[in-house]
Amino acid sequence: MKIIQIVLNNEILYKKFDYLLPDSMNVVLGSRVIVYIKNKEYIGIVINIKNNTNITQNKLKSLKEILDIQSLFNTSIWSIANKIAVYYQYSIGVILFQALPIYLREKVYSKYIFYNLYWVLNKKLLNNNFKKIKSLKQIIALNILKKIKINYEKISYYGLTNSIMISLQKKNLCFLQKKKYYSSTINKQNIFYNSKIFIKKNDILNKFYNKINIFITWIISGSLIFFENIDLYLNIIRIILYKKKQVLILVPRIYYIIYIYKFLLKKLNVSIYLLNSETSNKENFFIWKNTKNGNIPIIIGTSCSILTSFLNLGLIIVNEEHDIAYKQINKCRYNTRDIAVLRAKTENIPIILGSATLSLETLNNINIGKYKFLSDKYINILYNKYYNFNLININNEKFKNIFSNVLLKKIQKNLNNKNNIMLCINNIGQVNTILCNICYYIAKCSFCKNNYIFYKKKKKLYCSFCKNTILMIKYCLNCNSHSISVIIIEIAQIMHYLNKIFPSILIRYVDKNNILEYDNKTYNKSVIIINSPFFIQNRYSILNITLIAFINIDDIFFSKNFRDMEYFSQYFFRILKNNLKIYKKKEIIIQTNYIQHKFFDKLINYSGYYNLAKFLLKERKLMLLPPFSNHVILIAESYNINYIRIFLNKLKDIFLNKYINDKNFFIMGPMNLLKNKKTILFRKQIILQHLSRNHLHYIIKNIMKIAKKIINFNKIKFIIDVDPIEY
Ligand SMILES: [Zn+2]
Ligand SMILES: [Zn+2]
Repeated sequence: MKIIQIVLNNEILYKKFDYLLPDSMNVVLGSRVIVYIKNKEYIGIVINIKNNTNITQNKLKSLKEILDIQSLFNTSIWSIANKIAVYYQYSIGVILFQALPIYLREKVYSKYIFYNLYWVLNKKLLNNNFKKIKSLKQIIALNILKKIKINYEKISYYGLTNSIMISLQKKNLCFLQKKKYYSSTINKQNIFYNSKIFIKKNDILNKFYNKINIFITWIISGSLIFFENIDLYLNIIRIILYKKKQVLILVPRIYYIIYIYKFLLKKLNVSIYLLNSETSNKENFFIWKNTKNGNIPIIIGTSCSILTSFLNLGLIIVNEEHDIAYKQINKCRYNTRDIAVLRAKTENIPIILGSATLSLETLNNINIGKYKFLSDKYINILYNKYYNFNLININNEKFKNIFSNVLLKKIQKNLNNKNNIMLCINNIGQVNTILCNICYYIAKCSFCKNNYIFYKKKKKLYCSFCKNTILMIKYCLNCNSHSISVIIIEIAQIMHYLNKIFPSILIRYVDKNNILEYDNKTYNKSVIIINSPFFIQNRYSILNITLIAFINIDDIFFSKNFRDMEYFSQYFFRILKNNLKIYKKKEIIIQTNYIQHKFFDKLINYSGYYNLAKFLLKERKLMLLPPFSNHVILIAESYNINYIRIFLNKLKDIFLNKYINDKNFFIMGPMNLLKNKKTILFRKQIILQHLSRNHLHYIIKNIMKIAKKIINFNKIKFIIDVDPIEY
């Protein structure tokens, strides 16, 4: 009798299930099978084959169908997925399914897999309707469509999104055309370099080349996506391609992809494919297949690409390794950077972590000798050569909105000189309203004149004062303009205020949704508002910015997240570094109530990020905070606050009793988490801290079993966050 163990793509049914393998069937590890649980069909992955089971024979069910005759995972992905499941205490089933394209997670393939869909221009209607289009993105899309059909699967290669195309379709300006799909479209000529390439080797390249076949974590103090250390990066990739190996390039945020994709395509002349949340299911399947069989040499992807199967992976590059976007907040809360290092170790290949503002974790790993510099060590730029720093004490000032008088005067002066100003506003809310792009009027309740709040899901505007609700408006209630945007309420108020003081000035807010529109435009006499950390000016930008002001930053000193000072420092120096390129001395203004704080002394009087980082690391060490200790957060969510209290207190008692003599182990909490406003869920958490990572992982080893004994999981949702970044 053979028993197979399977896992499901399900967080709640996370355990392993035993099934009887009929004698007539043959099954391999890592293949998909179909089973019944309570008369419902599920796809499972075979994770173990054994000869016995604890289940009595009459209760043991047979599996229904075998979907694959060979494993869908190579040995390294299999091993990495298992390590992730253990380290982050998460369902191995969900992690394995995440490594598969969506098509393989379902039983029936989409019917569109046999077709290619193309967006095609509707030429008849174009001339009439073209002029009415106001959105820059839609105009860009139409201009591309004039020249070519755009493959439905590949819109992100043009910097476009589905929603842009659909809004054009609604205006009858384009439509989808279906064409029969024939197998691989990959040009085999463009896979790897066949002829000899000539790279002038220098010491740094030799250093890399000598350890090209072993695991080593290299540090480069600059990111490929910002074209820093660009020749070094290009030559390293060329060397790997020449060795007929594949490269995985990770980016933290989707909008970074398009520039580096175009650049590498031009410089390297090989096939490059993109993997991100915009990638369609079919493209995803195509890439999975062709990366697995070695036909795709380079993948540029966001976090979702980290478990892609490669035939012969030779290098991983992690851009902006410090970026918090790498930390997953849904499902398994892993940090993609850390998984990338784990993957490189498992595959025994080199990995490069790149950033001009390395995270404190990474700096600590350099200090203890775990990671090594490939490029020159810390490059400290003498920012005083490029910027005049000006700390403004707002302690004594009466507030006009959030601008000090000094700042308003400086803005006026720079505008008079026809220059642009950048305002970096920290720590604002998340509630949206509607702002007119022409007259800067904020949509107001017709009864009580309070600002409306915009509800995205219901597409309605809501007055929190008198509870009046109206449908989403299509034009400005003040000037009837159709150019209105959904915007964070505090930002809308700032823009409205600035418009009153500087009526003739263009005021624009840039965030992740419209960043691509702004990159190629020229302005003068304008105020650009950005909200950290989403806006990064790229190298094509030609904005003539002469004043950069940081506003509303004091929260970093009181935040319950001890990492906020680090994040602000990284953001601050990234902005400074990206604006070095235009050679004119600029002014930096920082408004604060705490002008005497040691932090500012390091921020502007020393010569750059690394001296500040050293100071922050020292403070962390003093307080025994990560990276000098390790954290695991246990979160409980429920509609009933009592369930949470009972559960977390019991859990805490168990740990305290068991590890009463361990002086390096601490438990904090239970403490409140911000209540989830969208639902009526209550949330509380306890934080476990230990000086030793191994000890901490030993402590939480069987936590799911322990937790299940305390409470029924119908009553609460239990989340484990290993190496958390939010508190
Ligand atoms: Zn009202
Ligand atoms: Zn208006």
